[in-house]
Amino acid sequence: MPLNVATSAVRSYRTLSPLPAHRGVLRRSALCCTFRRLTPPRGYLALCPVEPGLSSTAKLQRWPGQLRGYGNPIHPNWLTWVLVVFLEYSFNLTLKLKGSRMNPLCPRCGASGSVKHGRFHRFDDAQSIQRYRCSECGKTHSSATHTPTYRQKRRRLNRLIEMDISSSTAQRRIAIKHGCNRKTVARKVVFLAAQAREKSDKWLRQYGPFDSVQWDELITFEHSRLKPLSVAVMSCTRTRCIIGFGIAQIPASGQIAKRSVEKYGKRRNLSGPMRKRVLESVRDYVSPKAAITMDEHPRYAGEIKEVYPGMSQTQHKSVRGSLTGQGELKRTGFDPLFNINHTLAMMRDNVKRLTRRTWCTTKEVHMLDDVLAVYMHYHNSTLIPQPEPSLQNQSDSDNT
Ligand SMILES: [Zn+2]
Repeated sequence: MPLNVATSAVRSYRTLSPLPAHRGVLRRSALCCTFRRLTPPRGYLALCPVEPGLSSTAKLQRWPGQLRGYGNPIHPNWLTWVLVVFLEYSFNLTLKLKGSRMNPLCPRCGASGSVKHGRFHRFDDAQSIQRYRCSECGKTHSSATHTPTYRQKRRRLNRLIEMDISSSTAQRRIAIKHGCNRKTVARKVVFLAAQAREKSDKWLRQYGPFDSVQWDELITFEHSRLKPLSVAVMSCTRTRCIIGFGIAQIPASGQIAKRSVEKYGKRRNLSGPMRKRVLESVRDYVSPKAAITMDEHPRYAGEIKEVYPGMSQTQHKSVRGSLTGQGELKRTGFDPLFNINHTLAMMRDNVKRLTRRTWCTTKEVHMLDDVLAVYMHYHNSTLIPQPEPSLQNQSDSDNT
């Protein structure tokens, strides 16, 4: 084949190679990609100016980006530049002051001058989190650093586990339901309980102090029926909210008493000090002249008189609460302790380990305490109709 123009062309695109051709060698590379067109200029200068060379003369200056013929040319002098520099400085200063007032405090040194420092993606709940850098110590922190769920990997489960643990679901079943480990559920219960105690306190302060309350105990057990526990509960007569509760060990009674002593030794009765502790702990939520209703337990009257001398006490003979179905046909009549009995029945039904004839048991008393703390907040904030905030709280907010 004779050498001509077409033989030195690259085969695939039929374009001429810009490089010198070697005799007898077919070159296989060429610049064959597409290039961006130059942007046709409109109101502002295109990224690559079509005209090469200086775009302005020394006397007629334009603002950066301003095309010739758009707007009046300015004649800069030193005063204008001083003004521009001053405005820019004050604008940045405003931003910095505003930022330091709004941004969270540094968790390490407590300084307020944190500035924004990028964001990160949190995979757990697909949130974009703002990060900050402390201008004092230079360490970084984020808007998640100050939250109670800081460094939790499964924070989406918190609300779900709170609902399930208060809705008659065993911890093993919760783990299966949400695809997590049983240990995760157990840890979450401890975390949720700490949160629930704070929230319950806030809720009770918002709707309290209560002026009509009821007081009773329910019996459950730890590990075995031979090791019974007593749970004392105070509830509001009007709203049926749970105001406080406490747990203590009691000795087994009845037919299992002898076997209990044989197997586990003598079990002390700690329910008296526990009841006193609960009565003390609800002092902030119950009015000191409240009316308290309870059954004819021989110890109640004295204990309450000791802690709240101003309370008016009423004792009623306890009636066995009527069950659904045939129980409704029983003639029990008006039950003055209906509200506390109903609250205890709700606890038995909604907390899996308190249900009668269940496989679920309390292994450790502090875990029952945690589960009941979670239930108490769920009961007060979700299960019962929300009461009106108390008149005292309303008048407080009016005065301030
Ligand atoms: Zn710092």
